[in-house]
Amino acid sequence: MAGKLVIGNWKMNGRRVASETLVAAMLADPRINRPNVGMAPPAPYLALLAGWLEGSHVAVCAQDASRFAKDGAFTGDVSAAMLADIGCQYVLVGHSERRQYHGESNEVLRAKLANVLEAGLVPVLCVGETLTEREEGRHRDVIRHQLSVLEGVDPRRCVVAYEPVWAIGTGKVASLEQIAQMHADIKSWCLQIQKTDVTIRTLYGGSVKADNAEAILSIDDVDGALVGGASLEVESFAMICMAA
Ligand code: PEP
Repeated sequence: MAGKLVIGNWKMNGRRVASETLVAAMLADPRINRPNVGMAPPAPYLALLAGWLEGSHVAVCAQDASRFAKDGAFTGDVSAAMLADIGCQYVLVGHSERRQYHGESNEVLRAKLANVLEAGLVPVLCVGETLTEREEGRHRDVIRHQLSVLEGVDPRRCVVAYEPVWAIGTGKVASLEQIAQMHADIKSWCLQIQKTDVTIRTLYGGSVKADNAEAILSIDDVDGALVGGASLEVESFAMICMAA
């Protein structure tokens, strides 16, 4: 199983000194300081993180990128080209919290994906259904629709993170059967959407913790994890990275 991708999403947490101390402790742990581990801090700390991670195996990941490609009058935005400039490697696109609080539509996400790819970075497209959508049996249609933004995108250059909204930050984890089924479905839908025979990499996210990581990451079709809360604590994140 070695080498599955684990990205820690810090969300809107942390301050400079505390985060530097946390990263130093994480880098001192060989379970974390290895290839295929990434950290996604809030935007003001990205360049600092790039410095702290210099010489380590850990990659810098951004939580978002602007839908606008060119420099200009877009107050508050951070372009994919700027993220590449400071040493970023991955960018989350369409996290459910961006969809929920910023109304990010498929049209916006298509532009963001294109910009991230154009900047030479790897987009991690986040998809996931709400509890109502699952209870109404619409989850497959919802995910299929969210994945449609990958049309024309080379599967070797992007990653999908399946994160059921009802499992994010709630402590509720999807069952191993639900995770296995959705990952298999996503891989096969992407073959059709991307018109390719190359299988896309898929991560699972939603209350991944030290005590469930091994079971989740043992699923064949799960190629890694997107971790929120547990990525802010050294031992929890280390256990998850080790399971990968
Ligand atoms: C996330 O933020 O993408 C996430 C999966 O959060 P948590 O692990 O806290 O559920």
